Amino acid sequence: MAQVRKCDVVIAGGGPAGAASARRLVSSGFEVIVLDNALPGARRPCSGIVSPQAQTRIAGALGDKAEEIYLESYSALTFHFPASGHSFSAGFESGPARRADRALLTGRLLEARLHESSGAEVHAPMEVLSIAEDGERVQVLARGPDGDVAYQCRWLVGADGADSSVRSLIYPGLEQFPVFRALRTVHRVIDNSLDPSQIHFWPDPSHGLLAWAHAWDDRLALGILRAEGEGISELHDRFIDLLEQDHGVRLAPPDESADGRVFLGPAITNRYMPGKGKVLLTGEAAGFINPSIEGISIALSTGAIAGEAVARAHNVGVEPLKLYRELLAKEARACTDKWNPTRLLFSSPHEADLRVGFKTLSQDEQHAVGGDLMRHMKTLKPYGWTLRVLWLGLIRFLTGRYPSGGWL
Ligand SMILES: Cc1cc2nc3c(=O)[nH]c(=O)nc-3n(C[C@H](O)[C@H](O)[C@H](O)COP(=O)(O)OP(=O)(O)OC[C@H]3O[C@@H](n4cnc5c(N)ncnc54)[C@H](O)[C@@H]3O)c2cc1C
Repeated sequence: MAQVRKCDVVIAGGGPAGAASARRLVSSGFEVIVLDNALPGARRPCSGIVSPQAQTRIAGALGDKAEEIYLESYSALTFHFPASGHSFSAGFESGPARRADRALLTGRLLEARLHESSGAEVHAPMEVLSIAEDGERVQVLARGPDGDVAYQCRWLVGADGADSSVRSLIYPGLEQFPVFRALRTVHRVIDNSLDPSQIHFWPDPSHGLLAWAHAWDDRLALGILRAEGEGISELHDRFIDLLEQDHGVRLAPPDESADGRVFLGPAITNRYMPGKGKVLLTGEAAGFINPSIEGISIALSTGAIAGEAVARAHNVGVEPLKLYRELLAKEARACTDKWNPTRLLFSSPHEADLRVGFKTLSQDEQHAVGGDLMRHMKTLKPYGWTLRVLWLGLIRFLTGRYPSGGWL
C-alpha cells in the first residue's frame, strides 16, 4: 500500500519551468511538492546559456542571489554556412547571454523564501507513474527508491520536459510529433580559432538539424540536433572534421557527454498543449521551446504563468486552466514567431537581431547564404510542416495573431 501525501499543488519536473512555477505558487502561500525523476544536480544535455530576457526573469525571482549562478558571458551568435563559406554574427540587443549553472538556477528558484513561506518540498528521484482526477482532487502515483507514494493535490502542473509522462497520461492518443535528439559533448581544447566570446551555430544539412559550439576556459562544448535514428556518431565525427578543416579546431576526446530528447514540432506549428481539467502543462512539456539559446527563457516564463494562473484562479474561485490558456496566448505567439519565416524576414523575433547580422553580408553573400538556408529548410520537409508554417505565417501577417484552434 502506497504512503499518502496531501498538498495544494504537485509539480512534476524540477527543471526551469517547474522551478519557476513552484516559486510563484510558494510566494502565494501554496503548499507545493515538486517531483523529479532525477536527483538535483543530475547532468543534463542543456548548455545552460540564458538569454538577456531570461536573466531579467531570474533577477526578478532571485534578486541579488541571481549573480551566484552565472559563469561565462557571450556577446553574440555567429552563424556559419560551410557550403558557401560565409558567416555572420548577430549581437544580443540588451546585453550578453550568460552560461548559468543549471542545477544552481533551479535549486535557488525552488528554495526562494518569500513572505512567511518556506520554499517548495522537492521529492527526488520520484517518477510519475499515473494520474487520476475525481473532479475535486488529483491523485498522482509516483515511484521512488523507498517505494510508491500517492500524492493528493488540488492541481497538478506537468513540467516534466520533452518526454513528459504527464502529457502522455492526459492526452493518451496524442498526435505523434517526430522525435529529435540532441547530443552535447565537452572537450579539452588543443587548438581553437573560433571566437570564444560568441556562440557558434552551423545550420547545415550535413550536420543534422543544427550543430553548435561554445567555449570557456580550455573547454569547447559541441552540440548536435538531429532526427531520431540518424547515425549520431557519424554526424559527430563529421562535425569535428568540419571544425578542424574550417576553423583549425583540434580537440581531445570528450570528457563529458549527455543526450536528450527535444520536443520541437509543437512550437514550429503553433500546436500547444496547456493541459486538461485540473492538470496544467508548462515549459517544453506543453510544447514551448525556443531556438537560439532562448529555451530556458520560455520555460521560466510559461512556468511562472502556470503558477500565476493557479494562484489567481484560486483567489477568485474559477478553474485555472481557462485563465492559463488566456495568459499563455502572448507567450505562444512570441514562441511561434521565432520559427515563422515571415517574422524572421520582416521583423526581429529573436533576442539577437539576426537581420542586422545578415545585412552585414554583401549582396552576393546574402544570395549564397539564402540558398544555403533554403537547402537547410528542406530538412523539415519530411515532417509535412512546410504548408502549415506558410499558412500560419500568412494568418499572422494579415491578423497579427495565430489561430489557437490547433491547441489541445
Ligand atoms: C543539448 C541541449 C542544449 C540546450 N542548451 C540550451 C541553452 O544553452 N540555453 C537555453 O535556453 N536552452 C537550451 N536548451 C533547451 C532547454 O534545455 C529546454 O528548453 C528547457 O530546459 C526546458 O525546460 P523545462 O523545465 O520545460 O524542461 P526540462 O528542463 O527538461 O525539465 C524537466 C524535468 O522533469 C523531470 N522529469 C522528466 N520526466 C519525469 C517524470 N516522469 N517524473 C518526474 N520528473 C520527470 C526531468 O528530470 C527534468 O528535471 C538545450 C537543450 C538541449 C537538448
